[in-house]
Amino acid sequence: MKLYEMTALELSRLLGKKEVSAVEVTQSFLERTGSVEPQVQAYITQTPEIALAAAEMVDKQRARGEALSPLAGVPLAVKDNICTGGVRTTCASRFMEEYIPPTDATVVMKARRAGMPLLGKTNLDEFAMGSSTENSAFFPTRNPWDLQRVPGGSSGGSAAAVAAGMAPLALGTDTGGSVRQPAAFCGLVGLRPTYGRVSRAGLVPLASSLDQAGPLALTTADAALLLSLIAGEDRLDPTSSAAPVDDYTGALSQGVRGLKVGLLAEHLPPEFDSEIIAAVRRAAAALEKNGAIVEEHAMPHISSSLEVYYLLCAAEASSNLGRFDGLRYGRSESAENVTAMYSRARGEGFGPEVKRRILLGTAVLRESRYERYFLQAQRVRALIRRDFEDAFSRFDLLLGAVTPSTAFKLGEKIEDPLAIYRGDICILPGPLAGVPSIALPAGTVSGGLPVGVQLTAAPFNERVLFRAAHLLEQERGGRPLRPQPAPPAL
Ligand code: GLN
Repeated sequence: MKLYEMTALELSRLLGKKEVSAVEVTQSFLERTGSVEPQVQAYITQTPEIALAAAEMVDKQRARGEALSPLAGVPLAVKDNICTGGVRTTCASRFMEEYIPPTDATVVMKARRAGMPLLGKTNLDEFAMGSSTENSAFFPTRNPWDLQRVPGGSSGGSAAAVAAGMAPLALGTDTGGSVRQPAAFCGLVGLRPTYGRVSRAGLVPLASSLDQAGPLALTTADAALLLSLIAGEDRLDPTSSAAPVDDYTGALSQGVRGLKVGLLAEHLPPEFDSEIIAAVRRAAAALEKNGAIVEEHAMPHISSSLEVYYLLCAAEASSNLGRFDGLRYGRSESAENVTAMYSRARGEGFGPEVKRRILLGTAVLRESRYERYFLQAQRVRALIRRDFEDAFSRFDLLLGAVTPSTAFKLGEKIEDPLAIYRGDICILPGPLAGVPSIALPAGTVSGGLPVGVQLTAAPFNERVLFRAAHLLEQERGGRPLRPQPAPPAL
């Protein structure tokens, strides 16, 4: 097996035994990227020199016998809405095309300190608004399983990079599904941690009450390694939690005996792909076979998640994006007066989806509409949260789908934003309630595309997600799901 085909855990073991050097590992991913990136287009910015310098440093530290993180020398790709000090961070927006942050986001700082070589910054929907990576202002990313299809979004570049063997691990952000949905479309494990489990400091905000960073990985063990590294309280993010960080890796082998699992009735409707429903039911049967108690469960308010999420996300985004005025970031151009300057900068700097959300968000925050829309959405959000509290008074886990269908074709839905929004129905309730969820591959369907299933747990119970997800992975054979055939190298 080539180094770029290995999981993070396999690389970590080889590195620990000094059977390979961090420079060799990094070079393998860089070479692989050289041959498949022209077709896949996962990266906005590649940082080979930074990666190799970090790898050399790790090799020196190891030669000196220093104690190192298990991820030392394991390279990382980072979504381009997560700040990297000294490395351009664009959010896939013209507005930030030349923005170079002065410091790292906390998650990036932790990864760099642990000795993870930074391979580059990955493509996304502009400001993380979207579900296909087609809203990038620069170029769309393609799904390594089928280059005519989208990789999902908004963390589509991160998912495509890992699925194509261009990185063993990646960081994404998940406001309303942007880690889990591309994970499902690309056959990966994607984890959205509990709100507050991982610091948001240095993430460019979309909707601050929903944003979380999380790993995209080939296996549950790899996701556990990266979550262990990035989780924890951070004085730079007052919403980060002081709850102790659990032993996620230790949870992997604990099995599911005695766990109570709610099978989400709302995730099994006739309009979903029958093969997706079949995959969810297979997962339920596998959990049951291994000693879990599975029961169908209905959550009366989660069907309103689409309206609530898109309204609140737009409201928060319109406020967060107010800082892009053409002075502080990018595009300061001469104009007759200040209003003309704002409107020119924002008119030219933002793409159509971002403008749509700013308009919607500003509209619902107006005094005349605030009560009827914004406050009403907050009330329904509270009901959705209560649905989860009720569910977790009876169940340890909820099992359901990630998406109603597998990866769609590039351009297929671009003219119909509502069709794209509707595809998010299974991944929006969790963020509104602040609970953690994991998407994991459940095999492939007849067209050869990967299909995912989703597990959700009570706040700060990521351990139980890892227990059940690892068991399902073992049932599937324990190996990562890889694109067949692999994307053709040039
Ligand atoms: N698809 C959702 C949206 O467009 C989620 C985005 C995200 O999680 N960043 O808002």
